[in-house]
Amino acid sequence: MIKENLKEVKEKIQKACLRSGRDPKEVTLIAVSKTKPVSMIEEVYTEGIRDFGENKPQELREKYDLMPQDISWHMIGHLQRNKIKYVVDRACMIHSIDSVRLAQAVEEEAAKREKVIPILLEINIAREESKFGFLEEEVYDAIETISKLPHLKIEGLMTIAPFVENAEENRIHFKNLRKLSVDIKQKNIDNVNMCNLSMGMTGDYEIAIEEGATFVRVGTGIFGERNYIK
Ligand SMILES: *Cc1c(COP(=O)(O)O)cnc(C)c1O
Repeated sequence: MIKENLKEVKEKIQKACLRSGRDPKEVTLIAVSKTKPVSMIEEVYTEGIRDFGENKPQELREKYDLMPQDISWHMIGHLQRNKIKYVVDRACMIHSIDSVRLAQAVEEEAAKREKVIPILLEINIAREESKFGFLEEEVYDAIETISKLPHLKIEGLMTIAPFVENAEENRIHFKNLRKLSVDIKQKNIDNVNMCNLSMGMTGDYEIAIEEGATFVRVGTGIFGERNYIK
């Protein structure tokens, strides 16, 4: 089942790239393995996937320690400051930097280890009450501060689009995230590299690719529905 799912997702990514005149090499598929057991992750690994996404620090740590070392683990969920220690040595990138305070706390942990951590700034592009992330008008002040932190490297933006019936409804949000990243790029701020857009999930990744996604985060489309009741 997983094998077929993955094949379908890869084909859809290829097609979305073709439609939008993009090189498929620009798009990295992150298999979002949260709540899923190591046995399923191994199946996806065997199919050649090396980028996995987790939203809970302890879960990322556990799986990191059990799985091959050539995996790139992406931290994609809201991060509490007291849990940074679990991911700072293990995540290749933190997609979910949603406050200046969090960035400063990651800086502290990274500095202790003399590491530089690639990060994305999470943007609440659809201005949903329920979501974490910077509002567009907040992001410039945030970048001003975060870009000066020597152990963080800003490499782009991330968003979680609204849950919608028709994925086309999210196109405008993906367009807006892209626009924001272009605006930031034009400011040529030191230590800010707007080379990544992390956007698109199972319901809308094809549209996100058409609008410029470089990372798509697909969970259900690969692993099937998540069951939170254990
Ligand atoms: C769970 C999750 C995903 C994957 O969602 P699916 O709809 O299962 O593809 C992507 N991004 C984030 C931040 C998530 O928490």
